[in-house]
Amino acid sequence: MSERQLSQEQQEFREFCQRWIEENKPDPHPIPLPQAAYEVTDPSHLTYLQEWQAKCYEAGLIASDLPKIYGGHEMTECQAIASAEVRKADVPYFINWIGLGMAVPTLLECGSEEQKARFLPPIFSGEEIWCQGFSEPGAGSDLASLQTSAVKEGDQWVINGSKVWTSLGHFAQFMLLLARHDKSDKYGGITYFLADMNQPGVTVKPIHKMTGESGFNEVFLDNATVPDAWRVGNVGDGWKVAMATLTSERGAGVGVGAVATESPTITMAQVIELAKTTRRNGRAVWDDPVWRDRLVKLYERIEAAVQNSRRAKLKHLNGGAMRIPLQGKLVGSEVGQELHHTALGILGLKSALYVRDPNAADDGKWPLGYMNTYTGTISGGSSEIQRNILGERVLGLPKTK
Ligand SMILES: Cc1cc2nc3c(=O)[nH]c(=O)nc-3n(C[C@H](O)[C@H](O)[C@H](O)COP(=O)(O)OP(=O)(O)OC[C@H]3O[C@@H](n4cnc5c(N)ncnc54)[C@H](O)[C@@H]3O)c2cc1C
Repeated sequence: MSERQLSQEQQEFREFCQRWIEENKPDPHPIPLPQAAYEVTDPSHLTYLQEWQAKCYEAGLIASDLPKIYGGHEMTECQAIASAEVRKADVPYFINWIGLGMAVPTLLECGSEEQKARFLPPIFSGEEIWCQGFSEPGAGSDLASLQTSAVKEGDQWVINGSKVWTSLGHFAQFMLLLARHDKSDKYGGITYFLADMNQPGVTVKPIHKMTGESGFNEVFLDNATVPDAWRVGNVGDGWKVAMATLTSERGAGVGVGAVATESPTITMAQVIELAKTTRRNGRAVWDDPVWRDRLVKLYERIEAAVQNSRRAKLKHLNGGAMRIPLQGKLVGSEVGQELHHTALGILGLKSALYVRDPNAADDGKWPLGYMNTYTGTISGGSSEIQRNILGERVLGLPKTK
């Protein structure tokens, strides 16, 4: 947003955000944080990040525009300003990214008033961490094949089954849960629940990634229970409610301050610095015209992605239903991967030196980051699935089946 377009309230809020972040930016944690909120497993990192999120919420940088009854700060079109300042500032990410980025938009769109009042404020403050229980061993891209069952008994539901790849499941108090109440109806047989993770019927087991980190889990639900009051939407509306969650996960939701990873603009600056400080064939990579050309092209892509994501937030500029917003996750995750791939190219053979190798450039950040970028291109629907969605639902191309 340019200076000219800002109202006085917005202008003052932006200056406040800049000043506040400068004054309150936390000192680095003694043990470096993982690259993204998806990989946090150290309880001391959790506490540090919860404290940071709580402070940002208190200052009005989270839930800036939402009504007070939901724990919001009731400002006018200030959230985008706060989020932009947070992203620019190179500060720690918000740990409750599933809560902020998925639970909040889902509850705002489909939750009951009681659910909003109960669940939203502790999501904003980071006090209650959320996870997403959608994927199952036999249901990923074809999510509607999920088999976890929900059987109504009195005023509660009894849940049995297992979930997989559950990010932050090890810290979560609550899960966005999809379960099947009717086996005979693939889409209409799914209901959406808010499940308490701290109960005897829930077992969480970490899964280790190729990076050596964890961050996601298998979750086993063995006669776990959910009160009927924590069902979101009607029985059988789970697929529709899930679409509200996935729309946000894929970058087209209402923003309340979710920042789970480093901004691509910051990573781009680091890649340029790497090119300036890495020498190949007797000169800095930056001075090689072929590399310079490649970096400029990448910079252009990033700038286009950043401007597009700004455009996506403005209804009158986003070119019709979901056309721009739905590209967010696809473009953002692929640009992130290309940035890291470029860094590996700059490093050449040195890119094989990994974390904890004293000779690794930037403490092994680049090979680790490259592997971690696959989180973005797989989770929330793989890039292939995003392309199918854009092709079929946005461009109106014929369906493959
Ligand atoms: C780091 C990470 C974190 C995750 N966190 C969570 C989480 O917190 N909660 C959660 O519920 N899930 C989570 N997931 C799961 C994620 O949503 C699934 O991995 C994803 O939807 C793909 O499903 P799948 O792994 O079963 O792959 P599959 O569906 O088996 O797909 C395998 C391959 O086939 C391709 N493919 C499948 N169908 C088609 C098609 N119709 N057209 C073209 N190509 C196709 C896919 O693109 C992919 O390359 C996470 C995944 C990762 C990697």
